[in-house]
Amino acid sequence: MVELATVLIHGDDKDNRVTDVAPPINVSTTFRYDDNDLIPWNERESFDFLDKTPVYSRLAHPNSTRLESVFSEILTGHAVVYSSGLAAFFAAMVHYNPKRVFLSQCYHGCRSIVKILSRNYGVESYSLEDIDARACRGDIVHLESPMNPFGTSLDIKKFVESAHSRGALVIIDSTFAPPPLQDAWEFGPDVVMHSATKYFGGHSDLLSGVLVVKDDQIAKQLREDRIYLGTNIPNLESFLLLRSLRTYEMRVIKQSSNATEIVAYLYKNKHFYGKVLKNITHSSLQTEDFVKRQLKGGFCPVFSISLNSKEQCQKLPRLLKYFHHATSLGGIESLVEWRAMTDPQIDQTLIRVSIGCENAKDLIKDLSDALLTLQKESE
Ligand SMILES: *Cc1c(COP(=O)(O)O)cnc(C)c1O
Repeated sequence: MVELATVLIHGDDKDNRVTDVAPPINVSTTFRYDDNDLIPWNERESFDFLDKTPVYSRLAHPNSTRLESVFSEILTGHAVVYSSGLAAFFAAMVHYNPKRVFLSQCYHGCRSIVKILSRNYGVESYSLEDIDARACRGDIVHLESPMNPFGTSLDIKKFVESAHSRGALVIIDSTFAPPPLQDAWEFGPDVVMHSATKYFGGHSDLLSGVLVVKDDQIAKQLREDRIYLGTNIPNLESFLLLRSLRTYEMRVIKQSSNATEIVAYLYKNKHFYGKVLKNITHSSLQTEDFVKRQLKGGFCPVFSISLNSKEQCQKLPRLLKYFHHATSLGGIESLVEWRAMTDPQIDQTLIRVSIGCENAKDLIKDLSDALLTLQKESE
């Protein structure tokens, strides 16, 4: 088996069309037919030909094909790429067409999509605690682990088993712990999903999402549906994402070890910030056995802190030098977000921290100085 770092750089060598070492940016939406090989659409047995001879970029284009080559290998399945993480989740809902969806604590956008489905089609939504009592064949259980915004893990295997025992299918949103941190397939889900906007993109400059399935026929159906949902990744973004993937492993490993070091420091020294820092949540602070089994390649680069008051949450971002105050996560630059700014359901004393690739000591000093300033103000 070829290792992650090598696949990231060579997984799409087979898709080379020209002698350029750096794949070209293709901006064309349409591609000339080969007049010596004219086969009508309805006489095609599959759409695999699009990988070699693109037709129209909403269907596939050279860099979306490259991305699917790399993602299929690093995420060990058949990968279908989308214009955003939510476009990927919506595509899964369209494909599986569930009557009931069971959701863990998860990204608010996925919940909002289920709300739209409830409004339009009467899809029912429940929590994971309801699986044993209510799940039926064809329903969807949507797990997110590690979870937004806390950076903590849930026992994936336990929920997959209870879902499957009821005939329901499981999607795992593994955005917070992409490989090599976690291999979600080890726990038996049916679909693995990522917002590639986050760690795979890694530079806060593109949106994308990916669904991965083990069954080739389902991937084909998803790609065919995507033609008509109009949610393929656009041309320029696909180039940026491909470029990002080349250095992805180095970035995510550094982000993970930085975050783990910072959380350990804050946790050990929390008595210095007793009037500010109420709580820290991160997978590295969880003690359950399943956490290390799931995150065998490292803890996730996101954690959350709760402060004593809303006012402290509003002040903290201004005191930080190296953390931008912005939503999102996964980029090389560290971010904090007073989560109440975008998440209507969240506790208003929560700050989400997304760790980037800066030096961990500098980030620790920055956070610690800001917390100490707030501590002095409250004394
Ligand atoms: C950001 C995010 C999404 C949505 O992805 P977009 O690319 O913003 O559409 C879904 N799930 C998780 C866990 C996320 O962090």
